[in-house]
Amino acid sequence: MCPVCRARFRGARVCSRCGADLTVVMTLAASAWRMRQAARAALAAGDMALARDLAAESQRICDTPAGRKLAALGKWLAERSAAAARD
Ligand SMILES: [Zn+2]
Repeated sequence: MCPVCRARFRGARVCSRCGADLTVVMTLAASAWRMRQAARAALAAGDMALARDLAAESQRICDTPAGRKLAALGKWLAERSAAAARD
């Protein structure tokens, strides 16, 4: 979404409605996407704490519905994994 006029984000560097430069928005969205990919890789590798941290960081950069689910899953798995280590 364009931070200036809230037009739908279409992956272009310039907003089609108001002409705002969206380069920074695109850079942040791409960075959050890479972080979510790394979180998924950490989940697959069994590093739940790292997955939780990466997913939470990606959500701070760019909130998405999928990222929200990934962050919730990472948090839950990290808590379970920490509880299992205590038992
Ligand atoms: Zn705009």
